[in-house]
Amino acid sequence: MKANRKSYEANIMEGENKISDEDKIKAAEEVGNVSHRMLELAKTMVKPGARLLDVANAIEDFAKGQGFGIAFPVNLSINEYAAHYTPSADDKKVFGEKDIVKVDLGAEKNGILGDCAITIDLSGENGKLVEASEEALQNAISMIKAGVRLGDIGKVVDDVIRSKGYVPIKNLGGHGVRLNDLHSEPFIPNYDNGDDEVLEEGDIVALEPFATNGKGYVVNSDVYEIYGHAGDAATRNTDARKMFKEIVEKYSSNPFAVRWMSKLFPSGFSLYSAVRELLRIGAVEVYPALVESGKGIVSQMEHEVIVEKDGCRVLTK
Ligand code: MN
Ligand code: MN
Repeated sequence: MKANRKSYEANIMEGENKISDEDKIKAAEEVGNVSHRMLELAKTMVKPGARLLDVANAIEDFAKGQGFGIAFPVNLSINEYAAHYTPSADDKKVFGEKDIVKVDLGAEKNGILGDCAITIDLSGENGKLVEASEEALQNAISMIKAGVRLGDIGKVVDDVIRSKGYVPIKNLGGHGVRLNDLHSEPFIPNYDNGDDEVLEEGDIVALEPFATNGKGYVVNSDVYEIYGHAGDAATRNTDARKMFKEIVEKYSSNPFAVRWMSKLFPSGFSLYSAVRELLRIGAVEVYPALVESGKGIVSQMEHEVIVEKDGCRVLTK
């Protein structure tokens, strides 16, 4: 056990708003339920010919309409893209008839974050690949309880995916979720990486197996659309300063999409120049879209759960 690791409960209790266990779980369930309903909406909208930009905007607007925030930009990652693809400000891309689409998203309220994902197989030709991540997730969920070893979760995920003829993506995995911290400890591997650490009662974790017919690891692409606040902005560039002000006011805790700020700028050129300047000076960090290194196609399924003494409760349902 790493000394600095705190349970979700410890983390939430240190926040400004101390809430009881029951209220904490209820709040996490509400956020999880809205996240689940965002995915349900995605299922009705992700169709051949639909624009990615329209789908992402509609899903994010739905959460806002329910009185929730957005934990991170809606990810719509197609085929060999595994994660972190979100549409650009004027994205013209539409879903193709053969696309296999990972929809990964989450609602947010008072710093409580949702995180869940499904894979939509538009051709129906990748059923086995989708099943591989789906069954891996179900088997992982059924073994989660206080005391389960992280490496053992990974082994189950790996075994299921390999039994279907695919490989897991080893450099992606599940993670702890805490207040305003989507990717906290522990990292939950998609294979047995030898980690003997165990889950504790009250931990909130996201489980997310990825299966592929490629090499089994992802690399950064040159698609840069998701960013996070990282430091101070020492620049005289007017557009960059304007953008930074907006980031500090609205997006200081969680990742944001460049397109969320398009209305502030007269053109896509000035919008993207501003964010590139902020990246150059270290005021923001980027989460590049991740692509399978062998250009394999990728499936993913994800749920967020709270660890209990003898099992777990799925929050994103
Ligand atoms: Mn996710
Ligand atoms: Mn996740």
